[in-house]
Amino acid sequence: MHINGASVPARSGATFPTTDPSTGRHIADVPRGDSVDVDHAVQAAADAAIEWQFSDAITRAGLLRRLGALVSENADELARIESIDSGHYLGKARELVDAMPLWLEYWAGAADKVGGRTIAVPGNKISFTLLEPLGVTAHIIPWNYPLLILVRSVAPALALGNTCVVKPAEDTSLSALKFAELVQEAGFPDGVFNVVTGYGAEAGAALAAHPEVRGITFTGSTETGREIARLGGQHIAQVNLELGGKSPLVVFPDAPLEDAVEVAVQGFCSRAGQVCVAGSRLFLHEDIADQFLEMLVARLRTAVIGDPFDDNTQMGPLASQKHFDRVREYIEIGKQEATLLYGGGQPEHAASAGFFVEPTVFVDVPKDARIAREEIFGPVTAVMRWSSVEDLIATINDSDYGLFAVLWCQDITSALDTAKRLQVGSVMINDWFGELPMTPHGGHKQSGTGREEGLEAVHGYTQVKHIGINLDRSPAKASNWAGAPL
Ligand code: NAD
Repeated sequence: MHINGASVPARSGATFPTTDPSTGRHIADVPRGDSVDVDHAVQAAADAAIEWQFSDAITRAGLLRRLGALVSENADELARIESIDSGHYLGKARELVDAMPLWLEYWAGAADKVGGRTIAVPGNKISFTLLEPLGVTAHIIPWNYPLLILVRSVAPALALGNTCVVKPAEDTSLSALKFAELVQEAGFPDGVFNVVTGYGAEAGAALAAHPEVRGITFTGSTETGREIARLGGQHIAQVNLELGGKSPLVVFPDAPLEDAVEVAVQGFCSRAGQVCVAGSRLFLHEDIADQFLEMLVARLRTAVIGDPFDDNTQMGPLASQKHFDRVREYIEIGKQEATLLYGGGQPEHAASAGFFVEPTVFVDVPKDARIAREEIFGPVTAVMRWSSVEDLIATINDSDYGLFAVLWCQDITSALDTAKRLQVGSVMINDWFGELPMTPHGGHKQSGTGREEGLEAVHGYTQVKHIGINLDRSPAKASNWAGAPL
């Protein structure tokens, strides 16, 4: 682990194994942190916060830029670690690592530009706000994009003067530990950035419950998010939750079908569907549905699934045995509820060892089917046909989730009218989700609270202090709001 500037084992000495999901092979043992280690890390972060919170924004920005340069210099190693530990195929892992400096640069640039506001109050007074750091922030990370989700959350926290304790997912701890080495090399003071590895119910829960943690950013399942909100609520921590989704990808009758098919495939197959914004509900207008499905199946037949280290691979394995079993269970449920059009099994050549699942398409899916309502987090999509926009919007909104939607539509009026009426945190029109540091990401309803990325994320890592000054030197003139003497 990485605590107070040093690489340390768990104080108990315990470890747990981590495996390569493309072969099921054991690759390393990771320290099994518990509440004792969490307390050690939070104390280090709290001590470091005393000076860090008042450090110059320019100094913090310089450190973030240096870290960005080190990420670029070490991109190959970071990508290989991410690939072997999480199952991202190497080309994609490299693309994600190459993007990380964008987040560090963006927040380095924001560090000295974010501020409070002045307020027009009655009387001869000045009133203004300061945006102050929270102090110690906790960052609980999932396994689907371990490095990108880590950087998108710690970059604003550090830029705005907070210290961090990161708890990576137990299946994918290795890249966070390498990242911590780079933070150290960049010159961040000891204790400003810490990583505690371990299980969610032990290290994660202890971190969320720690009374000195003032802010918690959690990305993961809605179920765990509820527990984190409860734990953080006990000591009134500020909680940002980036949770699950059941995102619709809607194809309108005027859509250019080749492009829409390609995006639909990205939508549920990218990262083997283990993406919070996965387009796992595919709504096809009935005028184009038959043709679309024919093209979709033809495209899926060309998808290359297999070894993450092979340059031709387009889709790797699921991240763990446990998750593999869960996705396969959903496929069995789907076979009961709907018609299997494509996939449903394991690709023959890849079935021997790793956790691979074929892209899987169900059609004739009733809107109340479990595969149409629950997040599967695998390469599985539920196809529904539509003809009336009113019914389409009602069906999409009839969901506990509200993270994201894609509309493939040339008629901009229809597209914008639909976008406005969907209960989701973001809508892309004629485009796929391209995560960027400058655009806010987060959910409505049970997909989350708060925003990651964009200047909206500032609110998740700061607290407001109001300062008022009476410019009349006579206290008698400092009237209270009611004008009463006492
Ligand atoms: P998860 O909730 O099982 O785990 C996420 C993290 O929480 C892990 O680090 C885990 O160790 C920790 N954790 C588990 N139980 C805990 C507890 N009781 N207390 C504290 N920490 C605990 O989620 P996952 O299965 O790793 O990730 C998949 C989920 O994440 C999906 O639902 C997906 O939609 C969601 N996700 C959302 C976004 C987004 O930005 N909205 C991005 C990626 C993933």
